[in-house]
Amino acid sequence: MENQFFVDSEYLSAEALQKKHRLETDPSCRKNHMEYLEGMEVIESDVCKNVIGQMNSYDYSKYTASDVKSALEHETCSIEDFKALLSPAAEPFLEQMAQRARLETSKHFGNTVYLFTPLYIANYCENYCVYCGFNCYNHISRMKLSMEQIEKEMKVIADSGMEEILILTGESRSQSNVEYIGEACKLARKYFRMVGLEIYPVNTDEYTYLHECGADYVTVFQETYDAEKYEQLHLLGHKRVWPYRFDAQERALMGGMRGVAFSALLGLSDFRRDALASALHVYYLQRKYPHAEMSLSCPRLRPIINNDKINPLDVHERQLCQVLCAYRIFLPYVGITVSSRESAEFRNGIVKIAATKVSAGVSTGIGDHERKYTGKESDGVQGDEQFEIDDSRSLDKMYRDISEEGLQPVLNDYLYM
Ligand code: SF4
Repeated sequence: MENQFFVDSEYLSAEALQKKHRLETDPSCRKNHMEYLEGMEVIESDVCKNVIGQMNSYDYSKYTASDVKSALEHETCSIEDFKALLSPAAEPFLEQMAQRARLETSKHFGNTVYLFTPLYIANYCENYCVYCGFNCYNHISRMKLSMEQIEKEMKVIADSGMEEILILTGESRSQSNVEYIGEACKLARKYFRMVGLEIYPVNTDEYTYLHECGADYVTVFQETYDAEKYEQLHLLGHKRVWPYRFDAQERALMGGMRGVAFSALLGLSDFRRDALASALHVYYLQRKYPHAEMSLSCPRLRPIINNDKINPLDVHERQLCQVLCAYRIFLPYVGITVSSRESAEFRNGIVKIAATKVSAGVSTGIGDHERKYTGKESDGVQGDEQFEIDDSRSLDKMYRDISEEGLQPVLNDYLYM
């Protein structure tokens, strides 16, 4: 099979290389990606059927300029309108879409922009996602922070003024088990008002436990909603099970989490269909769980360590902007996060139109906040980064830049009673 992402490492043993090549070239060696593995909870839900039904029937080439104009005239954006806004026919209407998106954003969020920072506490991973720097066949410096190291990192971040943190691990249950993540959440609650998680999907009772430990919301990227493409990109590990991942947000809500976040990694497959499915995933779940807070991200692929073939610019900035405006018009009340994968220039512009949340002071490596925030050399080894970021502004700088744009930076909007 031709795949632009495959690279071999000289550090792999002959046996590992053989297994890797078999996985890459012979689909019959791979596990069925639609079959649950032992221990994975199955829930009854019609959300997946609704989302995938809509995505499969979406033929964006059939939409015309007149469909786009009428979508922009409607006060409420229907699913059909949203499909028109995501189509190539809407590209010449980007200015009008941006104006409408801006209006909707200000109606629902005023002029606020929320700030948070991610903290990677481990980068072990048992999956082979061929586009990711943390994948189990990539030779990188692996690390898992001890509780002491996590606390040190958290103190440094909290001292910068940050009040919301997103804790991330690679996807390795054996290296970063649920209890380890739970302990990290307990520490985080000492230093931050809001604690989010971006970890491997778990069962409902485990989400309940993590919520009790202090986590508030859960982010899971589906990567691509196209299950066939997903199968070709996620060759090994628990992540390979597509439906278990799809239901993660619903299990998190059933487990008591206050909010959930969604995304496809735009550029892995057809970005218009993935954008449609991501937004409909939110739409159908929000109807089922109206109390839940939901948000969408819009990451594009970024270059990764040891693989210079990944530098995709398949989703251009104008198209990304179109997707974000369409999201805002279709789901005016939903948060939209734009990460530091995007440039400072893009983020400065999009927060005035559609985005409501941005990361600041970002490092995707392990254990290097102290060095980055204070300039001091940290003790211990550092783990490699998952991908390159484009916007490395500190919290201070982001705060100033946002204020200078006439917007109001917000560090937290939630109080525990
Ligand atoms: S995308 Fe996530 S699960 Fe896949 S290799 Fe990277 S860290 Fe692991």
